Amino acid sequence: MAKGWVKDLYGKRLKELLERGEYWEIKKLMGPTGPHAIVEGKEVIMFATNNYLNLANDQRLKQAAVEAIEKYGWGPGAVWAIAGFHEILSELEKKIAEFKRTEAGIFFPTGYATNVGTIPTLVETGDLILSDQLNHGSIIDGIRLSRAEKIVYNHCDVADLEDKLRKAHGKYNKILIITDGVFSMDGDIAPLKDISKLAEEYNAIVYVDDAHGEGVLGEGRGTPAHFGVDDKIDIHMGTFSKALGSSGGMVGSDREIIEYVRNTARSWLLSTGPSPGAIAANLKALEIVMSQEGKERVRRLHENANYFRKELQSIGFNTGKSETPMIPVIIGDTKKARELAKALFDDGIFVVPIVYPMVPRGTERTRNEVSAGHTREDLDKTLAAYEKWGKKLGII
Ligand code: PMP
Repeated sequence: MAKGWVKDLYGKRLKELLERGEYWEIKKLMGPTGPHAIVEGKEVIMFATNNYLNLANDQRLKQAAVEAIEKYGWGPGAVWAIAGFHEILSELEKKIAEFKRTEAGIFFPTGYATNVGTIPTLVETGDLILSDQLNHGSIIDGIRLSRAEKIVYNHCDVADLEDKLRKAHGKYNKILIITDGVFSMDGDIAPLKDISKLAEEYNAIVYVDDAHGEGVLGEGRGTPAHFGVDDKIDIHMGTFSKALGSSGGMVGSDREIIEYVRNTARSWLLSTGPSPGAIAANLKALEIVMSQEGKERVRRLHENANYFRKELQSIGFNTGKSETPMIPVIIGDTKKARELAKALFDDGIFVVPIVYPMVPRGTERTRNEVSAGHTREDLDKTLAAYEKWGKKLGII
């Protein structure tokens, strides 16, 4: 039992979170996640998951997991670095390299562990990290764990990045430019062509977290492929937890870099990986995404996303700068964003309200993630509900 003063202190802090509206009321899913799901006992059209290609409940992923568990058992046994890993992990890492079009690949337990583990291995005291203003929290935490200096450049602002590169030139041992490929709250795309050109000019390392670009852009190969700059990106980071329908993180790069990361990233060295079942499902997911079927799923995903975004705009909603299936409906008011999400949930549509501190004040929103598995009927039903509640709540 905790000491009285400890319980009181954190009880008070918890109450403050509740009062500030920063307490997460986490919903329970009572079945698989897909374009439809049973949430808190209610059937809903799902817009809250990153299941872009509708692979999270794919029979082939489940079958691959079952077969691997039969062959290798459930538990990994120990930290891979100490006790070794099942041979299927090597197969997955080869597939990661093929997917990222790099020489070598490494698998991490999660995308978060990938960023917090990899970034501090690449930079140290005397180095500079130039980081996009809207980069994901796992990048921010990875930067904090490194001993490098950090300067934030304005979101997707190439002129600002160049200005900062020019001022930093010659003052640091090395410079790392780090950016999301697709931004996780706005669905806009990093200008990787310009960024990689600048990086070449200033001899900087480029690190791209493509969590929301893989399986979505570049016929599924991601944001670097979308811009045709795969070979200009030094570090290709990604995660299995979005379009790939699973969980786990990855890095693709040159062999020496990958083996250096494997031998120095603390989140790889000190943490036990997932079950062999998850490794096998990830391998299957990559095979599907790289196949002709994967390309067809990507095509359907964009057809759905483009329709949904355009219709939301014509109803009068602000979808910001989204160009991807991650579509925000920007409201600019915490109460209304929450009320809208609640009203939609009551109508059988699950979208998430995103408020400060996850996004800046004044840009509170609902976050809508379209899937290749949504039908036109799902989208139309959702659009009708958005229009009804948008008018009732005075948003449009
Ligand atoms: N990077 C970005 C851009 C993300 O959106 C996420 C997902 N929350 C992560 C990293 C972390 O990935 P994971 O959920 O697999 O830990």
